[in-house]
Amino acid sequence: MSVLKIKDVSKIFPNATRAVDSFSLEVADGELVCLLGPSGSGKSTLLRMVGGFETPSAGLMTIDGEDITRVPPERRPTGMVFQSHALWTHMNVFKNLAFGLKLRKVAPAEIKRRVEAVLELVGLGGYGNRHVTQLSGGQQQRVALARSLVLEPKILLLDEPFASLDQHLRERLREEVRDIQQRVGITTLFVTHGQDEALSMADRIVVMRDGKTEQIDRPDVVYREPRTPFVAGFIGTMNLLEGDVRNGMFSRGAYATPLPVSDGPAILAIRPEALDLSSAAGEGHGKVHRVTDFGTHGLVDLALGDGSRVKAMVDHPDMFRAGQAVTLSPRAIAAYRDGTLIHRTAAAGAATTVQQALVDA
Ligand code: ADP
Repeated sequence: MSVLKIKDVSKIFPNATRAVDSFSLEVADGELVCLLGPSGSGKSTLLRMVGGFETPSAGLMTIDGEDITRVPPERRPTGMVFQSHALWTHMNVFKNLAFGLKLRKVAPAEIKRRVEAVLELVGLGGYGNRHVTQLSGGQQQRVALARSLVLEPKILLLDEPFASLDQHLRERLREEVRDIQQRVGITTLFVTHGQDEALSMADRIVVMRDGKTEQIDRPDVVYREPRTPFVAGFIGTMNLLEGDVRNGMFSRGAYATPLPVSDGPAILAIRPEALDLSSAAGEGHGKVHRVTDFGTHGLVDLALGDGSRVKAMVDHPDMFRAGQAVTLSPRAIAAYRDGTLIHRTAAAGAATTVQQALVDA
């Protein structure tokens, strides 16, 4: 049973940068929460504060009710895996893992048992005698994870652990790490700027912006019901059309659609997979710019009359060609004003899964 609580934590660096701004989060026992956000949004600073590598300027952090805010890193029940794994290259795998246990004066027989068990867990059983330099990048990262896990931390902290690996390996490792995390049942906080990583691994995602939380929700909720235009534009592919509402009609260039909100500016958000296209007799809403055929479906890139671009996912790409005039019929829309959601239609019958939409993005 390990619960991490972060309460109103801020970090202001000496140069006055407010990297983390009154941030609060509770990570439940066994939960994996991803901190997701653009570069500079404060993810690493927050993680480093939980690990004890930065001191908060304000706020409180507890693990299972115990205040850890000012406890030095080596005395915290946290284990951190960094982007660059920093294994000791002059030691073999076993010694890399045994090192921390020796420092804690664990008996040699117990060290051997724990190191071998954790190597099995990360799929490197029998690799104890290998030198770190003889391992692939993915294997080295698994040793780094094992080195954290062998100390049996209450909270696992992962800072972009796959960033230095190629795409294929990254996808495989994130499945493995998620699998290991669930088997061990360890409470985990994970930093990434990769939305596919967050969507595929996390129980909940915290979308961060300027040191603050923009939205905390399950991955499917963040994807389907983004609460702000920032989240809408950051997760997956989203068409964001800035326009005006007059008498219940939103318009942008030649495109208009009913929107039951008061008059004023609005941003309309439509996912490509929720946008139907049909051939227009006259000018239509816009013209096809490019059609990409992915085999299973297609992506049509459109130019609206005023130059703005829109993407639509279609089942039959061969029905569209460059220059063709088309009419847009969204099946689901959301609308934002002043950074907040003002209207949403039910996302009924979305033609595709979150994962598929990301693959196409
Ligand atoms: P992220 O991990 O989301 O990319 P960071 O936590 O690394 O963001 O950085 C958040 C902000 O804090 C950025 O503006 C960054 O430049 C600033 N920052 C990070 N570390 C320091 C530091 N040691 N001194 C001053 N500013 C820093």
